[in-house]
Amino acid sequence: MREYDADLGIIAAGPAGLAAAVEASEAGLNVIVLEKSQTVGGAANAGMGPLGIGTKYQRSQMESVTVEKAFNMFMEYTHYNVDARLIKRYFNQSGETIEWLEDHGVEFEGAFRYFPESECTWHIVKTGKKIGPAAASLMNKKLQEAAEKRGVTFLFKHRATKLLKEEGHISGIIAETADGEEVKINCKAALVATGGAGGNKEMIKELTGFEHGKNLFSFAIPNVSGDGLKMAWEAGADRLPVRIEMAADIGGLERANVSVTNVVRQPNLVVNKHGKRIMNEEKMQNTTYLSNVADHQKDKTCFVIFDDETAKYYERNGVDVVSFVTPDPDVSDFHKGFEEIIERGSQNYFKADSLEELADKCGIDIDSLIDTVDEYNGYCEHYDSEFYKNPKFLRPIKTGPFFAAAIHPGGYGTVGGIRINENCEACDKNFEPVEGLYAAGADACNIYDDSYMFLLPGNSMGFALNTGRIAAKSAVSYIKNGGKNKWSLDLLVQF
Ligand SMILES: Cc1cc2nc3c(=O)[nH]c(=O)nc-3n(C[C@H](O)[C@H](O)[C@H](O)COP(=O)(O)OP(=O)(O)OC[C@H]3O[C@@H](n4cnc5c(N)ncnc54)[C@H](O)[C@@H]3O)c2cc1C
Repeated sequence: MREYDADLGIIAAGPAGLAAAVEASEAGLNVIVLEKSQTVGGAANAGMGPLGIGTKYQRSQMESVTVEKAFNMFMEYTHYNVDARLIKRYFNQSGETIEWLEDHGVEFEGAFRYFPESECTWHIVKTGKKIGPAAASLMNKKLQEAAEKRGVTFLFKHRATKLLKEEGHISGIIAETADGEEVKINCKAALVATGGAGGNKEMIKELTGFEHGKNLFSFAIPNVSGDGLKMAWEAGADRLPVRIEMAADIGGLERANVSVTNVVRQPNLVVNKHGKRIMNEEKMQNTTYLSNVADHQKDKTCFVIFDDETAKYYERNGVDVVSFVTPDPDVSDFHKGFEEIIERGSQNYFKADSLEELADKCGIDIDSLIDTVDEYNGYCEHYDSEFYKNPKFLRPIKTGPFFAAAIHPGGYGTVGGIRINENCEACDKNFEPVEGLYAAGADACNIYDDSYMFLLPGNSMGFALNTGRIAAKSAVSYIKNGGKNKWSLDLLVQF
């Protein structure tokens, strides 16, 4: 068996593993990173950037988000059902992490909101191109370069399979190459950061009850398949709930053109299969809330409905709500795009000349829908006395053809599963650290309680980077103290 020696073995090169590799190598550790795929970045290659609090961007934009404000918001949002010490440590470090990333060559466009009610915490990575998805892949490359410069060895296409223990503490990692060769890393400490189980249908069903492709349409990032959770649990770490990082799916996994995906995200009437209106559609912008709404309906399905006049208005004027994910309000080829998807035999997009026909196609109770639309059109003339939607988003549904798109629960992946403390030590059922074992990122992200906290955007990548760094600092202290899990004074002072 091929063998390597390292101080710290890091399982996976997503943002959590990368941040840990840079931090630990800068502190003088000999680090090996095992990565199952052939590249760094994991799910974060699809994302745009991390949370930071108290950064120079926020100050220069005259935004006043402080650690105190974010911490209190977070604790209220989660009903104190989470680890306050871990959250405080993460938020406290998050502003400095933005500077730390800049020191390693990452540039930012500034600090942004995801939607107007959210805070300006999302630090979108600058790529030299238009702001948009996948910007954070550049951050991952910069972290890889920084780690390699400090001597970190990356073993790509190496899937970690088992954590080894001797006399109760971590002593190594077993991995397997794509050709089936077994490899052993002898190490004094190990960090598990494999990004959760978002790409593993069976684990999602077993751990959350959702069925990917049936009642959950989430990003299923290949290789992110729950390996780290299984390894850490087997090595003695306690199991915490694994949840979906909810983000509503509109249109199933069908690909529509950008105009269509943009228009169906506008805050128009949302009804369930009973034909009842179910939310203030203004809140659709918080995609976690919309996903939760869909989750509570019959067949975990609801529909957004609008008429041709509204579609034509958007085509002429652009959409009402823009986001950085779909930043261009121009949807001038909406009708063409909708026609294409209907011709492909869509199961999730519907068009009909009458509301009765639309209800029939969607499987919505017809009489109830007609009543709901009547009521809704009344609110459009006066005031939304039902759910209090901002009048600027109230567009009546009168002129055919009528359009609908199905909404289901969706998600970015899973979060949580491994118990950690504020030092990112993986802990057992008695809350005692498993000696030499650390966990970070999505594998250990039990900080949102039941729903992802989108009011502070950049939260999950922010958690990954910051817990990666915290875990590395803890591992440095542990290894420099000869493997005994004692805290060095400088780390306590930093906290
Ligand atoms: C489309 C999309 C957009 C997003 N945008 C944002 C955003 O803008 N801001 C934000 O905060 N969050 C965003 N997120 C979420 C964010 O990307 C994740 O929370 C973050 O990447 C988690 O980091 P991680 O290091 O824990 O895991 P990941 O980034 O998922 O990386 C896990 C890595 O583990 C590797 N791996 C798995 N098993 C093994 C094994 N056995 N051995 C070795 N390697 C293994 C995988 O190949 C992968 O490289 C987005 C997610 C998606 C899907």
